[in-house]
Amino acid sequence: MEIHFWGAAQTVTGSAHYIRVNGKMILLDCGLFQGRRSDTYAVNRSFCVPPSKVDALVLSHAHMDHCGNIPTLVKHGFNGPVHATTSTVELSKLMMMDSAHIQVADAEYINKKRARNGDPLIEPLYEAEDATEALGLMQPQTYNVPFPVAPGVQATLVEAGHILGSAAIILDIEEKGKILRLWFSGDIGRMDMPILKDPVMPFAADYLIMESTYGDRPHPSYEQACELLQQVLATTLGRGGKVIIPAFAVGRTQELVYAIHGMMDSGDIPRVPVYVDSPLAVNVTDVFRKRTEDFDREAREMIGNDPHQGALGFDMLTYIRSVDESKALNLRKDPMIIISASGMLEVGRVLHHLRHNIEDPKSTLLIVSWQAPHTLGRRMIEGKQPVKIYGEVYNPRIEVKSIQGFSAHAGQDFLLEYALRQKGRVKEVFLVHGEDRGAEPLMELMKQNGMPNVHYPNRGQMFTV
Ligand SMILES: [Zn+2]
Repeated sequence: MEIHFWGAAQTVTGSAHYIRVNGKMILLDCGLFQGRRSDTYAVNRSFCVPPSKVDALVLSHAHMDHCGNIPTLVKHGFNGPVHATTSTVELSKLMMMDSAHIQVADAEYINKKRARNGDPLIEPLYEAEDATEALGLMQPQTYNVPFPVAPGVQATLVEAGHILGSAAIILDIEEKGKILRLWFSGDIGRMDMPILKDPVMPFAADYLIMESTYGDRPHPSYEQACELLQQVLATTLGRGGKVIIPAFAVGRTQELVYAIHGMMDSGDIPRVPVYVDSPLAVNVTDVFRKRTEDFDREAREMIGNDPHQGALGFDMLTYIRSVDESKALNLRKDPMIIISASGMLEVGRVLHHLRHNIEDPKSTLLIVSWQAPHTLGRRMIEGKQPVKIYGEVYNPRIEVKSIQGFSAHAGQDFLLEYALRQKGRVKEVFLVHGEDRGAEPLMELMKQNGMPNVHYPNRGQMFTV
């Protein structure tokens, strides 16, 4: 077996690992690389092997950095099955279609500039037709039920506890009389998070590919995160400001709604209007409502008991689809909470909300997720002045707050525990999906704890096992 590291290698986005076994090529994830626009264009078009040579794709979950480049793969010749859990299939349909529209809009925006400068025009990374074609290849699979992906290779998807439908991918391989198990963690979630089931720990793994996003630090607890959230909301709303929360449409938005709902019911924060302004998030929430079988027991019980549309809706909350309704929010001066995508402030409606409030010191930009280098979200956290939004220059005066405890990723302590479950059993561990500041401390800790064979492969590095 050969493992070719390609995407999310020494970085956190664009997850893609190529496995060559029994003469076939299996791809684990095909995510969009996010970062500097000038880099992303080239990186997302380059594949480890020509896409027509990939036989099957197994997808860990529906975040863009794991599924968002599948339409590009299809556009360039991939025609095999895409295996994923039922919830992941449902969610990634929405994500890919949404992304196709963003890709087209993005290319139009860039082309306007290029036309002005007399530069050659670019074509979108992919379009709706490519996404539709990709959707036709998806094959829903049930958690914990093995399915064949190639001769001598069975895959099993087990709970990763990261977002709805998320899975670790187990490949049970028989090659030239050798039997081995490759365990790909996908993105590892956390124990006891709201809505989601707990992650399954690795077992009987010979080789482990695991994420390392937060390998440098443990997270504050979910309870601490809620306390901080309550403080930020109470302070900002109390002084008459708006709270703008960039959030990914899948997972974080639903968690925030769940938490804010509770705080308003208990009187811990003022009752102000709350808007989820993202057509994608609205559609995703509909999938959540359909897929409650993937919820943990507490969330299923809460939904059973709740009079307000299953905890993901309440009287102060409005889900916004239309552009006009979204724009109308910017004319209003009253305190409110706006949750909108994208989560790293790279694209989407949240940029308009930020633009209209960025010079207002009463308002708060509240960051609740990891921000990739070179994204506007990262620059805002770092307090960079000035910043550019849609080509306009602004000097931010909005307060910027960041809360880590909502992370859907395991912190350092749990990542270490995850790896140590296979101590003495696993032959090699490969850390992916982490910058060096995350992966290196984790690698060091694993070595100190008696796991010497840990690698941090770079893009293009290949291991034969
Ligand atoms: Zn993820």
